[in-house]
Order: sequence, then structure tokens, then C-alpha cells
Amino acid sequence: MDKLHFLTAGIPSNAKDYSNAFLKLDEMNLDGLEVEFVHGVRYSEKTREHILSRNEKLITHHGPYYINLNAKEEDKQEASIKRVLDTARAGADLGAYSITYHAAFYLGDDSATVTKKMIEQHKKIVEILQQENNNIWIRPETTGKRSQWGTLDEIIEVSKEFSQVLPCIDFAHIHAREDGKFNTYDEFCYILERLGNELGNIALNNFHGHVAGIEYTQKGEKRHLIFEEADFNYKDLMKAFKKFDIKGAIVCESPNIEIDTKILKDYYMSL
Ligand SMILES: [Zn+2]
Repeated sequence: MDKLHFLTAGIPSNAKDYSNAFLKLDEMNLDGLEVEFVHGVRYSEKTREHILSRNEKLITHHGPYYINLNAKEEDKQEASIKRVLDTARAGADLGAYSITYHAAFYLGDDSATVTKKMIEQHKKIVEILQQENNNIWIRPETTGKRSQWGTLDEIIEVSKEFSQVLPCIDFAHIHAREDGKFNTYDEFCYILERLGNELGNIALNNFHGHVAGIEYTQKGEKRHLIFEEADFNYKDLMKAFKKFDIKGAIVCESPNIEIDTKILKDYYMSL
């Protein structure tokens, strides 16, 4: 990627459709958006047209919430694989840069067991995408609840196995599930350093991450907040991004959508 792109999570608040959304992003000097397929991978022909005529804006996709690649039942695992594939297929159809999803729940299994299972499941997914000539980045996301598989270590371990798989780093999730840690410049640098060391510069030059204000309890993530009402240290995160010269997409998931995305970008540009 040529630079760091600042994306809103979904369409800006007053935009009524995607055509409008891209105009609004242009007005605000923002770089694109994440298409939220969180309730299923569906879009109308009109939406498709709007997205395809977006000029140079960057898009990413968020897959459905109903994914659990570690489901006990075989049919639920298959349905979960299909949801990841469908998100990737929508990505190819709409020219997305990257897709992300919450891969699994532990359901009583230990970390190593689920990680091994995730490697098996991603092998199936990558093989099918290769048959379809679909080379989009697919990215399990670092998750915010302790019941969910998806620590930094776990996501890196699966990403190491496949050239098409890279982490989606959700900094607010890591901060929430690690009980308020990972909120300083040094801690942000630690995360980025590990990506570079363990996955190579390709992970820093083709980044996809999420950020937001966040409220959390001992179980982890509770809900997203705007930066102003949260403790998330987005300024030091942006400083770390500068230091590591991160290129790719950072998606802001604050509830005020475009406002915090703009705050984030403006701060980064001021550095
Ligand atoms: Zn997510």
C-alpha cells in the first residue's frame, strides 16, 4: 500500500446510501469505509453500482457476527466457513482491499486446541479462495471478549501459516480484554514490532486494524465509546504508527463514526 488510509466503520451518520457516503468522505478528506456485513453478506445491485463507482476510495469488509469456526456442530462450522468465503467473494466483487471477521469462541477448549483448529479451518478457506483466484487478504481479528478466540498471539500463529492470512489488529479489543493494558506508546510499539518480526514487513505495509473508544469489564469489551468519553490513547497509537511507517487501513469504530475518524486522521497528519 502507498499510505495509511483512514476509514469509517460503515457509512457516515447522515449519508443515506453509499453514493452519498463516498461524497461525504470526500468532503471530510477521509479515505474510505469498511462495509459492515455484520448481519449477513447481502447487497443490492444499486449498492454494488455505488460502491464500484467510488473512484480512489478504499474499502474493506467486516464479516458476519455469526461466525464460529470452532462450533461444536459440523454444520455450524460449515456455515461459518461459508460466511468467511462469502465475505471474501463480496470483497472480490466489490474490489475490497481486505476482509476481517471474529473467527471463533473457545467453548471450553484451550487456546492451543482452538488455534490448531483455526489453522485447519483457514487451510480449507484459503484452498477454496485459491481455486477461485481470489487473493484478497483474509484476517481474523483480535477479539475483545475473553470467551472469544483471538489474542494477539493466537492470531499471529494462524497468520504465520498462510501467505493470504494476516491479522486485523483491533487495538480497542486488545486494550479491553487485557484489562486496560496496551494503552501506551511502548505497548503499541510492542504490537507493531511483533507483527514486523514474526510476519515480516508485508504485515506493516499491508496493515488492517480497528480502533475506537471502549468501555470494558473483567470479561473484556462492553461497548464502543467516542474517544472523548473513553480512556483509549489514540494519540500515542498514531505516534507508533508513524514510527513504524504503517501503510494500509485503519478503521475507526467509534459510535460517532466519521467524527472520530476525522479526529484520528487529523492528529496523525499533524505529527
Ligand atoms: Zn470486529
